[in-house]
Amino acid sequence: MAAITNALRSTLLLELLSGMGLTFSYMFKRRKTLNYPYEKGPLSPRFRGEHALRRYANGEERCIACKLCEAVCPALAITIESEPRDDGSRRTTRYDIDMTKCIYCGLCQEACPVDAIVEGPNFEFATETREELYYDKAKLLANGDRWEAEIAANIAADQPYR
Ligand code: SF4
Ligand code: SF4
Repeated sequence: MAAITNALRSTLLLELLSGMGLTFSYMFKRRKTLNYPYEKGPLSPRFRGEHALRRYANGEERCIACKLCEAVCPALAITIESEPRDDGSRRTTRYDIDMTKCIYCGLCQEACPVDAIVEGPNFEFATETREELYYDKAKLLANGDRWEAEIAANIAADQPYR
């Protein structure tokens, strides 16, 4: 009996038809894949991506060189040097992050009292050399300028849960 059933299934191409039916049924369902990099999925406001140093709206650096981020970093990835300015304020003269050491724990961001160092939404910063992942202050400030709108929106979205 099983042999007759199998012969009938083969003759009538039932397995082929059922496979094609399954394929056609998926043609009308919502796609589960994205055409990356042209399409991107949603990111949580808490996503911890590439680091950035932020400025205030008047262009002044937020960072006050308190070095809390440097002290808390478990990977010892942050190096800061600072000196007072002529107006008595303290600012960094060097702010480096070795991104090859960073483990994206977010502790630097949590420790910062003025929301200066943040992990922004950018996850597309792969490089071809290690040297390109040694970020200096200019690179971090440029990241902050580039992503400020998204970073500010993410901080505002997360604020009710803090
Ligand atoms: S995310 Fe963590 S490991 Fe990376 S620089 Fe900040 S504190 Fe260090
Ligand atoms: S980034 Fe924040 S925690 Fe780090 S030195 Fe500047 S003010 Fe302090």
